[in-house]
Amino acid sequence: MTQFDPRALRVLERLKAAGHQAVLVGGCVRDGLLGLAPHDYDAATSALPREILSACREFRCVETGIAHGTVTVLCEGLPVEVTTFRREGTYSDHRHPDQVAFTTSLEEDLKRRDFTINAMAWGPEGLTDLFGGQEDLRTRQVRCVGCPDLRFQEDALRLLRGLRLAAQLDFSLHPDTADAIRRNPPQLSHVAWERISAEFVRLICSPAAGRILLDFPEATVQVIPELGPCVGFDQRNPHHRYDVYTHSVRALEAVSPIPALRLAALLHDVGKPPSFSLDGQGVGHFYGHPKVSARLAEDALLRLRLDNHTRERVLLLVARHDLPVEPTRQWVGRWLSRLGEEAFFQLMELKAADGLACGTPADGREQAGKEAEALARQVLGERPCLTLKELVINGRDAMAAGLKGPDIGQVLRALLEQVAEGTLPNERSVLLQRLEQLAKAKKD
Ligand code: ATP
Ligand code: MG
Repeated sequence: MTQFDPRALRVLERLKAAGHQAVLVGGCVRDGLLGLAPHDYDAATSALPREILSACREFRCVETGIAHGTVTVLCEGLPVEVTTFRREGTYSDHRHPDQVAFTTSLEEDLKRRDFTINAMAWGPEGLTDLFGGQEDLRTRQVRCVGCPDLRFQEDALRLLRGLRLAAQLDFSLHPDTADAIRRNPPQLSHVAWERISAEFVRLICSPAAGRILLDFPEATVQVIPELGPCVGFDQRNPHHRYDVYTHSVRALEAVSPIPALRLAALLHDVGKPPSFSLDGQGVGHFYGHPKVSARLAEDALLRLRLDNHTRERVLLLVARHDLPVEPTRQWVGRWLSRLGEEAFFQLMELKAADGLACGTPADGREQAGKEAEALARQVLGERPCLTLKELVINGRDAMAAGLKGPDIGQVLRALLEQVAEGTLPNERSVLLQRLEQLAKAKKD
């Protein structure tokens, strides 16, 4: 039988010793039954919030959401979220139940949960599985508790949660649940962007994200409407086997599961439909599309309320994804310096994925990318000078040479570029001499 953390069981025992019902519920039961290590513990109890505090007073308790009946009990460092059994009322705003009603019925508490595999309860006395959760785990499917349309109309975030769960566990969606997921994405307009964003990022970083995004474009397009024109968009180009959306999802599958990289892959060609042109031979081209993609991606990322660092990284990768690679020491040094080490390797990874995702034979660009990456690793091993901070001359030297205002930064950056490329050594005498020459040229 499943192994749960004994500290979580101690919390259940405390509650039971005080005369309440108490069970583990939700993701930890699901993961435990799958033989995976639960990453967080949720417990449900008939005890009211005050009674939870009293029964668990030997542990540190944090009143996480007392109005909703949630207390976090810390048992020797393990946080267990303990929530009073709840029955949910009607959802007139599709977002919040009109009232949260506590109940003493475990059955009612399980009925309000989203999916059968998330609606099981476990205690030392055994498993409570009222909706066929175990069977759905066996057949590896995500199925709503109750009528899928109604459940998604109550809270449309559930449809993204369902897709995320399927992508995370590599499950399928039960046919009725799948149909409702295709019908209900417009209901997401009632859900806060922060909630949508958190689930969507988890979805696209999950192992089976590619399959799910291809099967449920309606949901993706609701979250990122800019992708709408990409779905089914025929590129009319012999280098591209897939439509723009399929190509983008295949690129996403081929990059590491890091939010910035996955988002960049998903959005890198979003500017293709508006940049499309046909030449005399009837071949499709997308001149200048990376810039258009970056502009559209920015709108999408701002709406998704992504943090600035992630947004800026995605935009950089999208805007540069067509940068031609030259596997030379100079090129690698220049771009390592311009982008920074992390962004450089992410760009190389995106470019490799982009090439793979065309679905046509390799054309030599892959090889150039691999060589550039190998060179970059070699360059980094030589402790190169890639930033102004590492340059052995600085602004004071530039001023001493007679440079003023914006010329200082401009000249220093030009010198840094040559040092990074390996065409100039990072040596004071050499750089001071070059500085004199450049300052003189400025004056003339
Ligand atoms: P994970 O922790 O891996 O994200 P989880 O299933 O534990 O998965 P939580 O967000 O921690 O997800 O939610 C805990 C439980 O609460 C779920 O298993 C489910 O039973 C219930 N739940 C969460 N969100 C909803 C929702 N929007 N509608 C109905 N039930 C929900
Ligand atoms: Mg959880």
